[in-house]
Amino acid sequence: MSKVYAMPNVATPSTPVKIDPEKCIGCNTCVNTCQIDVFMPNPEKGKPPIILHPDECWYCGCCHLDCPTPGALLFNWPLPLKPRWRRKETGVISQTR
Ligand code: SF4
Ligand code: SF4
Repeated sequence: MSKVYAMPNVATPSTPVKIDPEKCIGCNTCVNTCQIDVFMPNPEKGKPPIILHPDECWYCGCCHLDCPTPGALLFNWPLPLKPRWRRKETGVISQTR
């Protein structure tokens, strides 16, 4: 039997998803949903998956939609995709209209 080693990417500004270890039930649904293997299962059963290749994420949102536990997997849009509005009257910038 051969051993395979994998190292997560060094953390970059690209953090597409965040997993709350308090809420995640370790079901690995997100691991199986992601078509490009951003995640790998945690070797410890029941623990949150490891985010192995965050820079490969294309922000399809499938992992977030398929996660059965509300709030366990949070989506983190990259800055250029986060809409912001500036109120004409006050000049205040907000993320809600
Ligand atoms: S958003 Fe899509 S590509 Fe990114 S980690 Fe989730 S399933 Fe994978
Ligand atoms: S789908 Fe949700 S609950 Fe299941 S392992 Fe992924 S983050 Fe955790």
